Amino acid sequence: MNIVLLGGPGAGKGTQSEFLTAEFGMLHISTGDLLREAVANQTEAGVKAKSFMDAGELVPDEVILGIMQEKFETSDLSNGLILDGFPRNTEQAIALDKMLDCLGAQIDKAILIDTPNDIIIQRICSRRMCKSCGHIGSVLGMNAEDAAAYVCPDCGGEMYQRDDDNEATVQNRIDVYMEKTAPLIDYYSKQNKLAKVDGSPSVPKEVFENLKAVLE
Ligand code: ADP
Ligand code: ZN
Repeated sequence: MNIVLLGGPGAGKGTQSEFLTAEFGMLHISTGDLLREAVANQTEAGVKAKSFMDAGELVPDEVILGIMQEKFETSDLSNGLILDGFPRNTEQAIALDKMLDCLGAQIDKAILIDTPNDIIIQRICSRRMCKSCGHIGSVLGMNAEDAAAYVCPDCGGEMYQRDDDNEATVQNRIDVYMEKTAPLIDYYSKQNKLAKVDGSPSVPKEVFENLKAVLE
């Protein structure tokens, strides 16, 4: 099964992808992760993407589509896909349908993780990522000392805050989501592929139970 996860920044797409991969063995492709890797490695795509990411703007379609095409060509897609952060506008959705069509595949479901904006802002400002394994964690509710000492619960690696996870950038990311990505809800709804999950519970596993229910 090939799934697109929709939802604003901080809606929980990455965290739910971790659960889905662990339980069903699908391949998780996060364009945000691929871009951050490209930035860290200073590849041509990474150099082009960096300023857009820091501003909370979308990286140009040709950069993303190039990265995705390469990823599809070099990956085993036979266990199914979870697409997280892609497509992010109608042009990308149309391009995705074409790329999959060439591979004899298609999107089966688009799942909207529906999360209110006030929760999103709070989550993003307290989100931390593991430098070693990419695990997504949070320092929500911790005092400053505990937050500073926070290490990855999965591998003990160093947890860092993404360059774009700050209040200044987050409002623009929400605006960009509303303007460019939210129309995809309609795009997939018209194809009878849309399902909606409540993303507001603060316990991620609770969201996952609801998500599994719509997959069945
Ligand atoms: P979030 O979902 O929390 O906003 P992501 O990790 O998905 O974060 O994306 C981080 C940034 O990477 C985005 O703000 C954007 O600049 C860029 N990006 C990721 N995916 C895409 C995409 N499909 N198209 C354009 N830009 C993208
Ligand atoms: Zn880790």
